[in-house]
Amino acid sequence: MTNEELWQAALGEIELSISKANFITWFKNTSILSNKDGRVVIAVPNGFAKEWLENKYNLYILRALRNTQNDIREVSCTIATLQDNFKEQHSVDAIVAPKKPIPVPPLEKTPQISQENNLNPKYTFENFIIGGNNELARAACYAVSQNLGRTYNPLFIYGGVGLGKTHLLQSIGNEIIKKDQSRKVKYITSERFTNELVDAIRTQKINEFKEYYQKIDLLIIDDVQFLSGKEKTQEEFFHIFNYLHQFNKQIVLSSDRAPKAIPTLEERLRSRFEGGMIADVSKADFETRLAILTKKAHDEGLNITKEALNFIAENITNNIRELEGALNRVSVSAQLSNQELDLKYVSFLLSNLISSGKKKGITHKNIIDAVSGFYDINPNDLIAKNRKKEVAKPRQIAMFLMRSELQYSYPGIGEKLGGRDHTTAIHAFEKISKELEYNEKLIEELSSLKERLYSIT
Ligand code: ADP
Ligand code: MG
Repeated sequence: MTNEELWQAALGEIELSISKANFITWFKNTSILSNKDGRVVIAVPNGFAKEWLENKYNLYILRALRNTQNDIREVSCTIATLQDNFKEQHSVDAIVAPKKPIPVPPLEKTPQISQENNLNPKYTFENFIIGGNNELARAACYAVSQNLGRTYNPLFIYGGVGLGKTHLLQSIGNEIIKKDQSRKVKYITSERFTNELVDAIRTQKINEFKEYYQKIDLLIIDDVQFLSGKEKTQEEFFHIFNYLHQFNKQIVLSSDRAPKAIPTLEERLRSRFEGGMIADVSKADFETRLAILTKKAHDEGLNITKEALNFIAENITNNIRELEGALNRVSVSAQLSNQELDLKYVSFLLSNLISSGKKKGITHKNIIDAVSGFYDINPNDLIAKNRKKEVAKPRQIAMFLMRSELQYSYPGIGEKLGGRDHTTAIHAFEKISKELEYNEKLIEELSSLKERLYSIT
């Protein structure tokens, strides 16, 4: 069977299980790009379709494909345009013809980003919700915006992805511009800074490059962890930094980890970064997540019940970007379907997004098996009361997974792992969580482990 035939068979089934509007909106101009070793890659026309197909429709697709070819295990999407001739013969249009024009789902409203300073006006202090996780970072950023160059210089904000670093950094810039249009502000990611520098070197405009940066009142460099290993960029940056600093020009930096945890960051740059104020943002607690959701739902004029908002805040816990993504999904669907946004509908909408192991029937036994298999140790050693070093780490990882994937209580975790005390489980969870912020090897190990865990079901 060819890929085309397989996809046509699957589409035929998917069409029966979802609404026509959704079917056309999301499956139009899709095709199977490859089908190998149980992994199917679907070509989709844009990022929006990719997100919907991978999250909301993943199970439908998998089920439909498996009905024709039962060894398919995994489906992913990639953005690609179709061959024109293929499009004509096989696109969804050929199967169903839309009677009405399809409502175009609203893509996220994109406010005008200034060409001059790269600031996005949507990031302000006013619409930043304060919670215990970001209080200090927010206060430091606000203080800097009130007294540029003199309060904390540099200001270094760090924390995991999607927790509001960029929002806070840009709020400083927007606040400054609001008060005084003539101030020179520049927001740039460290990656773009590096590219500009490389370009300047290539076109022999390095002096202009330096002059440009030396005129700036507020320089915001986002995600400086990407400077890691780029010696030449670090050196230039060091000079610009010193120059700006000596004239009390403000520098604000962000990173996904503390300066000391950025590998191959030159010592002199590291000590510069550490020379001002350092503040972290961590994961938001339930109340903060709910407050953020409530505000965003209100700002969008979304008619959604309290229970439904509670449900989202309870289940999307990783970061604020995912929280916004979930709300967006709900909002798009509200426009397509006219359904009431109550708990039942919202939990249905988000069911694929909330990948809790519990829902997929994974148990603590599966975790113990996956971890001991992965680290090649005996499952009994993981449970037994021995202090062998080579099992200590895997045991902590097993505890971590029981918490993160199954939401087991700490005493419950202790009990499943040979009757250990709940404080041991808390310690393990916190230790692994912290380590995941900087240890790339561990991040990779955990993602392979999760892959193992979820491929059994
Ligand atoms: P980071 O730079 O840490 O990866 P972002 O600043 O890009 O994260 O934040 C991700 C999204 O979450 C943004 O759209 C941002 O506006 C929003 N966000 C994060 N924290 C808050 C908050 N405390 N209040 C309101 N919105 C927030
Ligand atoms: Mg960011």
